[in-house]
Amino acid sequence: MTENLVVNGSSVVDQWGQVCEQLKGEIGDTAFESWLKPLSVGDFSDGTMNICVPTRFMRNWVITNYSDRIHKIWEKKNPQIKSVNFIVQAGQDVMQSRGIYSPTCPSLIKKISSSPMPQRLYQSGVAAANANESGLNDSLSVPLNPQYTFENFVVGKTNEFAYAAARKVAESRNISFNPLFLYSGVGLGKTHLMHAIAWHIKQQDPSRNIVYLSAEKFMYKFVRALRYKDTAAFKEQFRSVDVLMVDDVQFMGGKDITQEEFFYTFNSLIEEGRQIIISADKSPSDLEGIEARLKSRLGCGLVADIHPTDFDLRIGILNSKAKQMGLELPPKVAEFLATKITSNIRELEGALRRVIAHSQLLSNHEITLDMTQDILKDMLRSFDKRTTIDEIQKKVAEHFNISVREMQSSRRARTVARPRQIAMYLAKQLTSRSLPEIGRKFDRDHTTVMHAVRKVEELIMEDVSLAENVEMLRRSLDA
Ligand code: ADP
Ligand code: MG
Repeated sequence: MTENLVVNGSSVVDQWGQVCEQLKGEIGDTAFESWLKPLSVGDFSDGTMNICVPTRFMRNWVITNYSDRIHKIWEKKNPQIKSVNFIVQAGQDVMQSRGIYSPTCPSLIKKISSSPMPQRLYQSGVAAANANESGLNDSLSVPLNPQYTFENFVVGKTNEFAYAAARKVAESRNISFNPLFLYSGVGLGKTHLMHAIAWHIKQQDPSRNIVYLSAEKFMYKFVRALRYKDTAAFKEQFRSVDVLMVDDVQFMGGKDITQEEFFYTFNSLIEEGRQIIISADKSPSDLEGIEARLKSRLGCGLVADIHPTDFDLRIGILNSKAKQMGLELPPKVAEFLATKITSNIRELEGALRRVIAHSQLLSNHEITLDMTQDILKDMLRSFDKRTTIDEIQKKVAEHFNISVREMQSSRRARTVARPRQIAMYLAKQLTSRSLPEIGRKFDRDHTTVMHAVRKVEELIMEDVSLAENVEMLRRSLDA
């Protein structure tokens, strides 16, 4: 267990306590309470100390503001600590919201004792949940976010249909539609609704076996089973599942063997009358790289989409989130945010958190319009001129005198491959798209994008003229 993890003569938890004490003296009680108290010690390996952070927002903040200091203080106390690494651990939210402070991450404890490579499993987001706590199937599911409940879901015109469908599935013992297929753009509430269904079912009948996992995790598990020639055990895991939820199935695009396996799992569960819930970023018929028979299977239950938010919903969500954090948002501030940040709810939430964090740290808890405008200046500027992958492809293709189609083709000649890599690199730099998302735009998988990004990073160091070209393209796209 982490509590007992001894590095350099004393337990890491004790060491963390000392680091915290020192930092508290340096940064003051308020900042300490807001940013450092919610953190907890994870595992330690190869000189890296992992620290768990409850949210991604907090992680960014802590990395920007405190990580160097934490590292320096800790290293001084214990030279074996060569670096500190921050990991988002959603389960921490529960404790935080209940006001319970724990020095160690609850679900890490289990993994440290059972997994040979906790850190890697952890960072790739595929570690199993602390099953008993979340009440989910032990080896398959990932943890549910305790905030993602029906009660916390604000209903408006754009999502009422999906919400009603989700509630119906959660509430009825008899299967009404199978599968329920939810789709929308990013950050509009698909994952939230799926978790809400799981929480609800679990609450009503804890004996029901619910599995919630991302399509990426399904693939990862399946590929691993293939490698270890253990597909029978893989299949066996799904036999006793009552409700199967697979999030973001668009990531199965182009993965034929996994799709086939998924297809069989899917069919056998449906035949046995088990409930299936799927989400994706497009409707079944528009999914790219998914076999026709799977598409038609996916679309044969109820298909519900969530539309982009409207102003009223954005206001409703802002007020509800502020209330959850124990605050009331001045109407002018809510209006400003709801007018400016229209892309999706995740970004709206991010902006709100930023405003609240600043107000708590710097301006005596008062949130004003001026302060909000000021804090969000950079963020809003980057929204205004957000670059798309299509623009990047077009610009880079023009620059190197090839066509966008060639860029997306399978041709590997240097004259095409290099511009393609540069476009992938710029897409990673200038957009907030994930590697798989970028990959799909180029008809490649995420490892190819990762390789391209690294390659271009290397080339920029070695090749001045290439570096200049990349810089010029970046500037013209960023203008
Ligand atoms: P998706 O899975 O569609 O990308 P998520 O379910 O992850 O989106 O939602 C992004 C964020 O927005 C989450 O923090 C979620 O709680 C919040 N959210 C989405 N829709 C709503 C809603 N209707 N009411 C409250 N919060 C919402
Ligand atoms: Mg999601």
